[in-house]
Amino acid sequence: MKISDIYKNTKKSLSFEIFPPKKDSELKNIDETLSVLCELNPDFISVTFGAGGSSNCNRTIELAKKIKYEYHVEPVVHLTCLHYDKSEIDEFARVLSDEGIENILALRGDKNPNYPEKEDFRHASDMIAYLKPKGSFCFLGACYPECHPESDSRISEIKNLKDKTNAGAEVLLSQLFFDNNKFFRFIEDCRIAEINIPIIPGIMPVINAAQIKRMITLCGASFPPRFQRIINKYEDNRAALFDAGMSYALSQIIDLLVSDIDGIHLYTMNNPLVARKICEGIRNII
Ligand code: FAD
Repeated sequence: MKISDIYKNTKKSLSFEIFPPKKDSELKNIDETLSVLCELNPDFISVTFGAGGSSNCNRTIELAKKIKYEYHVEPVVHLTCLHYDKSEIDEFARVLSDEGIENILALRGDKNPNYPEKEDFRHASDMIAYLKPKGSFCFLGACYPECHPESDSRISEIKNLKDKTNAGAEVLLSQLFFDNNKFFRFIEDCRIAEINIPIIPGIMPVINAAQIKRMITLCGASFPPRFQRIINKYEDNRAALFDAGMSYALSQIIDLLVSDIDGIHLYTMNNPLVARKICEGIRNII
């Protein structure tokens, strides 16, 4: 099933993001994670892809096949392009097509000094435009309510996003954020620019302090004072931070669901307890 078809009716989607385990020893745990996630009846599960040449890329495809054929949930394969040339991207597309994978989250990928960049694809939209005429994939793209860290300006960011949809992206999944007002303003800007495809907010429940610090460095998401107070108070109290982080994420999600948005994409960090708690909190809402 193509992910874009989900939004042909008025249903709001629920989806999860997971990453392939790095170590062989962790692979067996993935079934425990997947069985909980899939019981929660998501519309799709997206699987991340290592930036440029990581050996985990094949695991992404293996995991997507498992989700589709063992758990009967639609997978979305993340695919990065900055460190690959056309023949390598063709090969990924061939394997995905042969395996019956229909949905690709097309990404540029983060710049990684350990891997040489190739010239064929400078941006996600280049890969979408290249692959679109070659197959029948549904392409999703990434978007950034608070702008990509490399962004020149809000205007160029929205213009580039419009190019991504013109190239063929049919659904956008957002970077995580903690301030819904930033997301609502971003949606308004997108609609003014006639980006009219579904834009699904990505929510990450923050449940440990190390993760918060990583987030600040990686994506520069702003912290509203209410969220900052939680971190200040419970940074060193894991159990309290878990409770407060889950409550904060739930209140964000409920605020989004009562507004005119198309679904929720949950960054699960492969933690089934997080996904289950969030789903229990919105069982009668979504
Ligand atoms: P692009 O769409 O190419 O945008 C990157 C920057 O370039 C933006 O500032 C944009 O405005 C600008 N830009 C775009 N087009 C043009 C143009 N034609 N001319 C000039 N500037 C342009 N990374 C991974 O390695 N693996 C993953 O699995 C992964 N999953 C992700 C999932 C989601 C939902 C999100 C939001 C991000 C994910 N990332 C992942 C991170 C992503 O790869 C990085 O944020 C990367 O730096 C940008 O990727 P992109 O596809 O958004 O790039």
